[in-house]
Amino acid sequence: MLQITLPDGAVKSFENPVTGLEVAASIGPKLALAALACKINGETRDLSTVISTDATFAVLTEKTRDKQPDKEALSVIRHSAAHVMAEAIQDVLGKDILLAYGPSTETGFFYDMFVPAGKSISTDHFEKINARIAEIIKENRPFSRYEQAGAAGLAKVKSEGNKYKVDNAERALAAAAEHNVSASPLSFYATGVPGTNWEDLCRGPHVPSTGRIGAARVMSVASSYWHGDEKSDRLTRVYGTAFASQADLDHYLNQLDEAKKRDHRVIGKALRLFHIDEQVGQGLILWTPAGSVIRQELQNFISEELRKQGYQQVFTPHIGRLDLYKTSGHFPYYKDSQYPPIIERDALELLSSQGCSCAEMLNRVDGVSAKLASEVNERTGAEAIPAHVVRPDDQLLDGYMLKPMNCPHHIKIFASSPHSYRDLPVRLAEFGTVYRWEQSGELNGLTRVRGFTQDDAHLFCTQEQVSAEIVGCLSLVKTVLSTLKMNEYRVRVGLRDPDNNKYIGASENWDLAEAACRDAASTLGVAYTEAPGEAAFYGPKIDFMIKDVIGREWQLGTVQVDYNLPIRFNLSYIGADNKQHCPVMIHRAPFGSLERFCGVLIEHFAGAFPLWLSPEQVRVLPISEKTSDYAHALVKQLRDAGIRATADVSNERIQAKVKDAAEMKVPYMAIVGPRDAEAQAVSVRIRGVQKDLGAMPAAEFIATLSREVQSRGTQSVAAHFGVTLA
Ligand SMILES: [Zn+2]
Ligand SMILES: [Zn+2]
Repeated sequence: MLQITLPDGAVKSFENPVTGLEVAASIGPKLALAALACKINGETRDLSTVISTDATFAVLTEKTRDKQPDKEALSVIRHSAAHVMAEAIQDVLGKDILLAYGPSTETGFFYDMFVPAGKSISTDHFEKINARIAEIIKENRPFSRYEQAGAAGLAKVKSEGNKYKVDNAERALAAAAEHNVSASPLSFYATGVPGTNWEDLCRGPHVPSTGRIGAARVMSVASSYWHGDEKSDRLTRVYGTAFASQADLDHYLNQLDEAKKRDHRVIGKALRLFHIDEQVGQGLILWTPAGSVIRQELQNFISEELRKQGYQQVFTPHIGRLDLYKTSGHFPYYKDSQYPPIIERDALELLSSQGCSCAEMLNRVDGVSAKLASEVNERTGAEAIPAHVVRPDDQLLDGYMLKPMNCPHHIKIFASSPHSYRDLPVRLAEFGTVYRWEQSGELNGLTRVRGFTQDDAHLFCTQEQVSAEIVGCLSLVKTVLSTLKMNEYRVRVGLRDPDNNKYIGASENWDLAEAACRDAASTLGVAYTEAPGEAAFYGPKIDFMIKDVIGREWQLGTVQVDYNLPIRFNLSYIGADNKQHCPVMIHRAPFGSLERFCGVLIEHFAGAFPLWLSPEQVRVLPISEKTSDYAHALVKQLRDAGIRATADVSNERIQAKVKDAAEMKVPYMAIVGPRDAEAQAVSVRIRGVQKDLGAMPAAEFIATLSREVQSRGTQSVAAHFGVTLA
């Protein structure tokens, strides 16, 4: 008797060994039809896999039970599509293209191939390859697995003359031997009938047949190396993607297209929002006047909300002493992601005159004094500073660091005056600039940079106050995102890993803080998921993920509860019992950084910012020279009302002026001719509406715009003309 346990805990019994497909059919015929693969004892397998011992079992279909695309099923579809693409490429370009390695990825799959001299795979071949892929999918050939004993299997692979597959087979056999799997066979998958149709050495799993792939296509080519080793063979990496249906693939391709149009690096350049200059340094953003307006407006908006919530603004320097970061733990443990320390010139000169080598200097920089180590270790009750970095005082080299985090500075402000429980919570906010050493290959416009300004704040509170503070953080995010009309977002609550005890702080406090994070998420009506094991070692956290207008998800910032730093820095307040207590600290930077957030906003709005964020809010366009004085006067009135306005008094024709303003995505154009001047009126054009809307008294136009700016709204002038904007 064979016992198969299903995800809901139900157990099915079978007399004889069964295949995954048979188990699926026993649950329901519809499920068997929808099944793409299965999970046996947690491992993804072919539906044809024979189960001969008791096991847990689940069917993988296109969608999960809560109607979301099933990522594991999609990954099986995509790897199956890699086989189909490889077959199509060999059909189109010849069997002398040798296949090496073809896994699925986050957005599709790739296959690394050796392309012999004189041949190449390029976009010119894509049409033919895609046509062949479509045919193979249509033919709906089964993926047929068969196995051959290790030695016989290896001999078969060797006889085929593809050294990459021989390498793969040898590695598979070596790995099996290491895990003591005796007589391990190699597995092959034919796309159709073994011996007749195309086949590939592969571990699997695959969907039952090519027709189940839905839709697939080749996307791009790049170069790669065998095993990623530059000294090894140069290969061609062919990228493709696949989805369960043509509609899903079309949606993805549209999204890619749309994303390309919205690329913040391209729009940022066209609208002159920011600049990155090699001579200043990679990943260091120069905010131009136009971009600075957006950043400043966002900053003003967030600051207003913070003031309402009782935050206090602080300013701190961009550097701090190494000792500070040794106490906080940011140095030397995270030194690889930081700019190197700044050592005082006198100290460097002295050491070099003593013949000190670079290695010795580094060693002295990275060390922590015995005194500091014993203080911190005593407070944390753990080896927070490990013995191998401890050095005698006279060997240490002092210096400064560009700050990787604002927390230590804020902690020092908190600690600079005594606190009673009555003054808590203390909420210190700063748009604080920090520096991280990202690999140059990782840098990307505004979204991955080496210097960025966090919308940072640190809250110092009692354990009882944690819950309300987290609610406050979430409601701020809600206000800001709803004003920006970004209404689709979710939060992920990072909790302890129940099987791990690396966490700092009392378990009952963790229970409270975790419950506080969950409650905050649920009372605000925000979609949230729980992620066990995703908490930091020092406290639970909430991460924010927003969906932009084309459905892409961006991770923004976090709210983190911290039981560690207050101990490391020996913080305290006097409680109601007149005794010293250690506060809880909350780090929060819900939008992450202004750089990243602005990058996301540029893509979200495709550069067409709402009025209050627009660098140039109104452009006044005189029809001819005759009305340029009136245009200048209007600009002055607009500016006096706090509106960012310019006049285009060039000799261009009005159509050209309109086109220029539209290209710069200016939300409002005020066109002025002699009749407007006489009537003290403007003829209005709104961004995105392809016509003049008619005249409006200038004073009313200005007053309406002022209201729209103040309310951070979007529709007021349009409403005046009875137009609704998209
Ligand atoms: Zn495969
Ligand atoms: Zn912090």
